[in-house]
Amino acid sequence: MRTLSVLGATGSVGASTLDLVRRQPESWRVVALTAHSNAIDLARLAHEFSAEVAVIADEAGLPELREALAGTGIEAAGGPAALIEAAARGADVTVAAIVGCAGLAPTMAAIEQGGIVALANKEALVSAGDVMTAAVARHGATLLPVDSEHNAIFQCLQGNDPAHVRWITLTASGGPFRDWSWEQLCAATPAQAIKHPNWDMGAKISVDSATMFNKGLELIEAHHLFLVGLDKLRIIVHPQSIVHSMVEYRDGSTLAQLGPSDMRVPIASALAWPERMDTPCEPLDLAAIGELTFRLPDEERFPATRLARAAAQEGGGIPAVLNAANEVAVAAFLAGQISFTRIAAQVEHVLNAFVPAPPACLSDVLAVDGEARAKARELMEIA
Ligand code: NDP
Ligand code: MG
Repeated sequence: MRTLSVLGATGSVGASTLDLVRRQPESWRVVALTAHSNAIDLARLAHEFSAEVAVIADEAGLPELREALAGTGIEAAGGPAALIEAAARGADVTVAAIVGCAGLAPTMAAIEQGGIVALANKEALVSAGDVMTAAVARHGATLLPVDSEHNAIFQCLQGNDPAHVRWITLTASGGPFRDWSWEQLCAATPAQAIKHPNWDMGAKISVDSATMFNKGLELIEAHHLFLVGLDKLRIIVHPQSIVHSMVEYRDGSTLAQLGPSDMRVPIASALAWPERMDTPCEPLDLAAIGELTFRLPDEERFPATRLARAAAQEGGGIPAVLNAANEVAVAAFLAGQISFTRIAAQVEHVLNAFVPAPPACLSDVLAVDGEARAKARELMEIA
């Protein structure tokens, strides 16, 4: 039996993780489950999985959480410090599934315990970059990718010397607006953006998928996870989301990982690693799917991957600025304050307006994140 914490337990990745855990009760003892403000669902999950502690990041939800857990013997806690303390309880496996840079400090706290961190929270790695990978090395932690593309790449790299890699190709569904004209994109609504054709995900990553910022963030994520140069990382649009990514070796062999568009597959791979576990996912029926197609991304309509690549090339604190500006712009779009096409325009605007000093530690990264958010709000003229 191994111990498990899920940071962001009430989200989409959190739910998929706990669905797998529910099927293997003999394999897991749950330490900490966390949420932002959804006290009722958090309490329900903490109760179902007999967690040691349930943490609500927004302290305003603590009374409700306490009340819901009264008499269960499960500890209830609230606020950012409690979130970090829970992440630092040193579970064997911590699933980092908070959305946004808000997940960075708790993810770093888990890394500092030296266990396995199954990382879904790409914004944390994009923002912290070398600061996070250095902490992983320093504390002897194991960072396992949950993001489907990175999990695919991780699997395709097993047993091969990374020195023999010619290309790593990240596949992208292209999102719900893949075939939309610029005029249509200008009028795209939040409801249309969060309706992804293949994946069922949280609102923020769904918008990122529609703008292609998701793929831009994933490019930076791959650069840090696999220590490959940006010149070896490519993106290809693959509308069916069946091939989750590919690694081409110097001899011309390309290894790919295929699977259904169900996050339980990469999550199971990380939870069971280096073993395998059963999932309830439908077997892949390639004959029924019929065709797998591929095409180059269009950076005119979707400039996000170009912006992300440039930010990664500059390095230092620039990827953290890109991420923060995108988080603010996505929130503004979802709130109806800016149009869909202004998301990338605003991110570019912030990148041009603000050059931070390279961060050397977690607090430096958080400072860059905070400053970039303030700049983004100022430039967008939103509160
Ligand atoms: P969701 O929005 O569905 O869930 C986010 C989770 O984080 C919830 O538990 C939420 O709590 C919690 N949370 C939100 N804000 C904060 C905060 N400020 N402090 C602490 N906790 C917070 O997101 P997803 O599950 O879709 O995504 C999670 C991460 O995984 C993202 O980084 C995403 O990019 C990545 N990812 C997701 C995939 C997917 O299929 N969904 C695929 C690959 C990667 P509450 O419910 O209370 O709001
Ligand atoms: Mg992905």
